[in-house]
This record gives sequence, structure tokens and C-alpha cells, in this order.
Amino acid sequence: MNYRGRFAPSPSGPLHFGSLVAALGSYLDAKAHKGQWLIRIEDIDPPREKPGAADHILRTLEAFGFEWDEAILYQSRRLDAYQAALDQLMEDGSLYECTCSRREINAVGQMGAEGIIYPGTCRDRQAAARRTRKQKAIRLKTTDQPLHFIDGICGHFAQNIVQEIGDFILKRADGLFAYQLAVVIDDAFQGITDVVRGADLLTSTPRQIYLQQLLKLPTPAYKHLPLVLDESGNKLSKQSGSYPVDANHALPSLIAAWNFLGQAKAPEAVNSIDGFWEWATEHWQPDLITLK
Ligand code: GLU
Ligand code: ZN
Repeated sequence: MNYRGRFAPSPSGPLHFGSLVAALGSYLDAKAHKGQWLIRIEDIDPPREKPGAADHILRTLEAFGFEWDEAILYQSRRLDAYQAALDQLMEDGSLYECTCSRREINAVGQMGAEGIIYPGTCRDRQAAARRTRKQKAIRLKTTDQPLHFIDGICGHFAQNIVQEIGDFILKRADGLFAYQLAVVIDDAFQGITDVVRGADLLTSTPRQIYLQQLLKLPTPAYKHLPLVLDESGNKLSKQSGSYPVDANHALPSLIAAWNFLGQAKAPEAVNSIDGFWEWATEHWQPDLITLK
């Protein structure tokens, strides 16, 4: 099968060094496999978005010499597809409505590595006992068994979704679709064979594989890249506004991202953006990536 990779930024701010690393890793892995590389703008969470951020990200990628194949997919235009998947899962009996308030969940749920574990309160709530709240989230019933996969960088990873996450939300009480649903539908829709992204999403991958299985969609191969942390050990995020990358200093930033991924040192002759991409595509070695 022809390799198809993607970079899927959320337009919550300008491209920062951490997202440059994810863009570079996914791009080079695709190009080294003579594959396609697509861009998807994950704009399904308006409260977290900044006006103009999507265009800014795209202009920055362009200035860095990234070249994408096919038209950019905007998730904000894909809501019908997400609803159709949700309808299918509802028909299969895989979903239920959740009327818990955040306060109720916090009071009962235990803290897990990914936040409060949803204790399943509404799963067994009898229809009659259900409160009539206007705002209902829709949750997916998950199974009490470990889901395993082999990550191309992190190796074997297992997670029991019920115990470590809980039945998770596919559509929020405010009516917005959850990232976990949208990403699964669109990775399949775009024919993505290989997902390369930051390790902050490693613990989301079992949820995504579980959804792929329920919806009978293929599971891509996954590679999770080490995260760029700030001085205090926190993940850089667009929202915290950390270190936007500077399109006027593209080459040094590309080389810094390359070095961050533990790749062989570029020779001095690599002194232009085009020269960098040509050399880097030939010398990309995912085996050299070490988790920090
Ligand atoms: N939109 C997500 C982010 O910006 C990435 C999604 C993904 O790569 O699966 O963090
Ligand atoms: Zn509930």
C-alpha cells in the first residue's frame, strides 16, 4: 500500500517548535517512503481557536519549504461525516447519553494519568432515573480489557480504556464533536496509512484504535515522537504561546528540529532550505529517535 501520512494541527495559535518537530517527522517519514503527505486543519473546537491561526500555520509551513499533496481538509466541513459515524454507533448500541455535571464526575471519579476517569455513572442509569438535562454528552461504552499496539518508536503500549480513561466522550454537551471521533473518521477518509505525531497523543491511540475496530475502519501504523518540553518540563503548546517558530529563520529551526529527533548531523554543505529537504529525506532514520 502506498504510504500516506499527514500533519493535523489545531488552529489554536501559531506553529511552535513542538509542532514543527511533528510536521518535520511526519513529512520526512512520508517522503523517505516516497509517500504522500497531507494536511488536515483540526478546527472543530471554536472556543480554543484563534482567528487567522490556520492561515498563519499554513504560511509558516510554506516558508519552511513543506509541500503538501492534495487539498487541505478542514474538519469544520466534515460534521456530517462525524454525525453519520455517531448514528451508526448509536444504532449498534455502543453509545449512551451522559447527564453528569463536571462537579459530579469530579466528586466520584478517580484521578488517572489522563485526568479524571469517568466512573460510568450514566451507563447503567435507568432511562426513568435519567435527569432531563438539556446538555447531554454522548459517551462510548468501552470494554474492560487491555488494548495493545506496537508503536514504531515507543514500542509495545497497552491500555485498559475503562480502567485508565473510562467511557469517553464522542460528542460534548455543548454539541461539539470530540477530537477522538473526528481524527478516526478523517484518518480513514484520507486513507492515512502512517500517523507520525507527538507522544502526548500516545495515550489517545488505544481509544482511536478501539473506535476504528467498532467502525470497521483500518488501523494505521503509529509513530509517536518525543515531546519538546519547556524549562519547567511542561509540553510546549500553541495555547501557552511558547516559542512560535520564525519563518525568517527557517533553516536553523529545521536543523534544530532535525537534531531534536536525534538524527545524524547535517554537513555544512546543507545551507539552504531546498538543500536541507533533499539531504534530510535521504538521511532520515527513525531508528535514531530516542524518547527523552
Ligand atoms: N490536532 C492535534 C494537535 O494539534 C493533533 C492530532 C493528531 O495528530 O492526531 O495536537
Ligand atoms: Zn454521566
